[in-house]
Amino acid sequence: MNNVFTWVFLAALLLVTGTRLWLAARQARHVQAHREAVPDSFAGTIPLAAHQKAADYTVAKVRVGMLDVLVNAALLLVLTLGGAIQWLSDAWARVAPPFGIAHGVLLIVSVVLLLTLLELPLSIYRTFVIEARFGFNRMTLALYLADLAKQALVSALLGIPLLVLVLWLMARMGDLWWIWVWLAWTGFNLLVLLIYPTFIAPLFNKFSPLADQALARRIESLLARCGFRSSGLYVMDGSKRSSHGNAYFTGFGAAKRIVFFDTLLSRLAPGEIEAVLAHELGHFKRHHVWKRIVVLFAASFALLWALGQLIDQPWFYAGLQVSTQSSATALLLFVLVTPLFTFFLQPLSSLHSRRHEFEADAYAAAHSSAAELVQALVKLYQDNASTLTPDPLHSAFYDSHPPAATRIAKLRTRPAAA
Ligand SMILES: [Zn+2]
Repeated sequence: MNNVFTWVFLAALLLVTGTRLWLAARQARHVQAHREAVPDSFAGTIPLAAHQKAADYTVAKVRVGMLDVLVNAALLLVLTLGGAIQWLSDAWARVAPPFGIAHGVLLIVSVVLLLTLLELPLSIYRTFVIEARFGFNRMTLALYLADLAKQALVSALLGIPLLVLVLWLMARMGDLWWIWVWLAWTGFNLLVLLIYPTFIAPLFNKFSPLADQALARRIESLLARCGFRSSGLYVMDGSKRSSHGNAYFTGFGAAKRIVFFDTLLSRLAPGEIEAVLAHELGHFKRHHVWKRIVVLFAASFALLWALGQLIDQPWFYAGLQVSTQSSATALLLFVLVTPLFTFFLQPLSSLHSRRHEFEADAYAAAHSSAAELVQALVKLYQDNASTLTPDPLHSAFYDSHPPAATRIAKLRTRPAAA
């Protein structure tokens, strides 16, 4: 450790890890402290037992999350200052010439595999211990392993060609390689968005046309009212993995599909389903999806520019205990270390997302029914055991959705829709 950047890195790691643990501890304490009474605004609708289940579920998830934060910090230290990346790079240099594309692919793929394997125990614990304890898990070990194998295959089929292309562009495109890589990355993401609903999602779930004709007519009439064209209403067998429910849109243009989890349909009344869908339509009509995509593309442009500056700086590698200055080590170190330096932007992104949720709620209230949406939200909060009493600071930092009480209060004070 003989360079200023080592100390900057360590300080950032300490600050981010400390902040994450502190926010998690606050959340657990706050939820625990409000465990004994249902908040006033939900007193008539949510039973005490359900409220307490939500508190216990939230605290259990927060505790595993804290362990996850510590494991991640330790892995990052081992990979960088512990010398694991350099060791792997040296080891692969015996198989393929260092600085070449094959060496880069072997190095990056082996680090990704290593991280995935080391994260596996916590993922298994989350699914088969926590989700199971609270009655949400429907996944068998066989299904879990089959999912894992399919995910690995899809990631390899999509990721390795992209990686080869990126390393090739970095080697061949001169000083402005990062603009080319950005174009490739942007194109790749658009391609995945395009093929996801028809080629990737069906590998994991069955999609069948919505069979309930009365519900289908009701939804068609909502779509007509909102001026929305879709290529079909589908039901997804989400219940084979979990009892959590949801609804979403996928695809572009006229190929847009509306997908309901079967778990959502089985729990909500038709009016509530319509209101939930109207909320999703709100996201679409207010261009939230495209806004998010534009923000992500702008952010990746800025990050790739930053990598373009760092890649020729010996202190960047030396500070992280890597002596091989190749495109692959630069990419790897950058991807591993950047989250430490963007972590404190998280509250901004959460705020942005919560604003979108309010806009989508307002849209649903105007085009469907605020009262039905409130009822649906209360049911979903209860079914998913989401806490009604999050720590305000934790929520401001991380939550993509506004706290239930705020959201419902806002819907209730709206003038009744026609
Ligand atoms: Zn939403």
